Amino acid sequence: MNGELSELAIHTITTKPWSLRACVDAYAAAGVRGVTLWRYHFAETNPAEAGRMIRDAGMQCSGLARAGFFPAATAGARRLAIEDNLRAIDEAAACGAPVLVLVCGSLPGQPLSESRRQIAEGIAACLGHASAAGVNLAIEPLHPMYAGDRSAIVTMRQANDVCDLLGSPAGLGIAVDVYHVWWDPDLPEEIARAGSAGRLFAYHVCDWRIPTEDLLNDRGLMGEGCIDLRSIRTMMEHAGFHGFSEVEIFSDRRWKEPQQQWLDSVVTAWRQHCSPHLIP
Ligand code: ZN
Repeated sequence: MNGELSELAIHTITTKPWSLRACVDAYAAAGVRGVTLWRYHFAETNPAEAGRMIRDAGMQCSGLARAGFFPAATAGARRLAIEDNLRAIDEAAACGAPVLVLVCGSLPGQPLSESRRQIAEGIAACLGHASAAGVNLAIEPLHPMYAGDRSAIVTMRQANDVCDLLGSPAGLGIAVDVYHVWWDPDLPEEIARAGSAGRLFAYHVCDWRIPTEDLLNDRGLMGEGCIDLRSIRTMMEHAGFHGFSEVEIFSDRRWKEPQQQWLDSVVTAWRQHCSPHLIP
């Protein structure tokens, strides 16, 4: 019905107060096409059932968020992290998600170079399982403000480098989240590099508020901040990416609003700032 919404997907955490059932019903009614599931829903709904719920409502499961967090102090703890990633791959396959998003992790006090080595080692240990399950792994570089404890991979260049280091396997790529990479002067070159290697797997949108009052839960609605969404989407399109623009907003302020009103704001902002017809 809504042709211009054909690339609209929403991460369920954007409406965190809602159950998966509530997300699916409201998203479908709003004309949303893709749903990126968060794993916390599996406490109430198993992955196969979650995927079915999305498809039965006429939408696609656009991805599963999230796994990763590979660096750890001991070999045993790193093994446990890998096992959690293998489970997440099985969950992605069960719910029909083509992509599993990896927030790669960082161990406070450990050199970032060592964390990156452990990340590469962890991803390498998951590639075979992911390939057999038909699930693509997408490294999400995070903003450098998270380097201490969430991700030692903080630029598109580093994400591309890990893919190259592991031999550029077809099932390993990158999730580009504008919140994390908008500031990067190398962004055009690194998006083009990822595109030419066929590794642009996902695109996440929101905005960067000024001032940002919380490092995690103060993401802005598209148009509410300083990110040049149109330019970044154009870079993605020119690099061969034509998938969803997935709205992913963590916001304590917004989670306090009536969630239907918030969803309506998301869809309106997406039309204004992310619609395909805005791309030259
Ligand atoms: Zn993201």
